[in-house]
Amino acid sequence: MGNNINNKSKSNINSKARKLATAKAKALAGSNAKKKANEKSNSRAYSKKSSRGNIKVHLSKKASKKIFVVVVAIVLVLAICAGLIYWKRPDMFWQGYAWVQDLFDRNDNQSNPLTLGEGELQIHFIDVGQGDCILILLPDGKSMMIDAGNGSNSSTYLSSTLDYIDDYLADGIIDYMMLTHADSDHCYFIDEVIAQYDVNTFYMPNILSTRADDRISNASIAQFTDDDTIDTICYANFFNSALLEADAEIVLNIGTIVIETENYRLTCYCPTAEFWENNSLSTAEKKNAISPIVILEYNGFKVVLTGDSNEINEPIFMDRVGEPVNCDVLKVAHHGSETSSIPSFLDFVDCEYAVVSVGENDYGHPSVDTLDRLAARDMTIYRTDQNGNIILSITSTINFSLAKSE
Ligand SMILES: [Zn+2]
Repeated sequence: MGNNINNKSKSNINSKARKLATAKAKALAGSNAKKKANEKSNSRAYSKKSSRGNIKVHLSKKASKKIFVVVVAIVLVLAICAGLIYWKRPDMFWQGYAWVQDLFDRNDNQSNPLTLGEGELQIHFIDVGQGDCILILLPDGKSMMIDAGNGSNSSTYLSSTLDYIDDYLADGIIDYMMLTHADSDHCYFIDEVIAQYDVNTFYMPNILSTRADDRISNASIAQFTDDDTIDTICYANFFNSALLEADAEIVLNIGTIVIETENYRLTCYCPTAEFWENNSLSTAEKKNAISPIVILEYNGFKVVLTGDSNEINEPIFMDRVGEPVNCDVLKVAHHGSETSSIPSFLDFVDCEYAVVSVGENDYGHPSVDTLDRLAARDMTIYRTDQNGNIILSITSTINFSLAKSE
């Protein structure tokens, strides 16, 4: 086991680690840029060449002026209609907006094929009791953490988690850190992890904490555009730690975020702008539904990570992706809750293995019905409450290593 990291401070991270930090390339992440076709216009705008022959249609300046006026009039009418719909029926406006955005997103999904990598990709489902904490070690040496919390606010899992990740993050750096949503079973001790490591890029909900630290700049606060706020101390600790982390980039979980190299790709399907506009986080189900659904691809294998996704956002994910995806491993959403892992979603991702991150709880997680749905699809099920820390390793094959068998 590694050193006791409780005694470690950032200032103690050795100079080698610092050099590594500066040498590392800046995060490749960011919103997937919309590809815009370059429409060329030139002085020949008045003439049109037939694709069959060389017949040229010459338009007079007067005719082209008429066409210009008609086009401007159409654009104006459309803009006025859009304005009226937004005024009278904002729900319909945002539905239309989402439809247009989905068209672009689907084009974005036609991503480049990946080449085979020689290294190993590891995903550690760390046993934090009732909660989630996932450490991903990417084959190029970069690291990602998704969530770090415990629903009973137990400090037992804080020290065991810090000890555990210390064995794998020798350079003191976490390249990417994502918080899926603000519940304590996902964020209870994530600030403690931030205190021990240098984080390069944060991916976080578009939600302000009501307890934002005064030292956070107005510009940083202005990034958060949703009307919802969260007032828990747990979220405030994460929020303030992330926004005050020196030299860290903040990326909000909106739209489609892609992190990729030539041989691995993480595609994060976050809530769309439309989702944020139309949904107040008034219920636990809605708070959970902001969880991004992430597909991690490497060497022909696909792993699906879900946070606490549920019957609200699983259909949104399927609609955005379009065609079913043949995946291999599913991090079962929301600790195996009955209202997550709906049958159509399980069929859509079509996985062979399931990992449930779960501990003692009063919610009946994982539900018998959900486990039955997984079993009905012949999935092999691993559980952190029965198997402890679970390591998924992907090279040219896929392998699970369990801290304990049942
Ligand atoms: Zn949870």
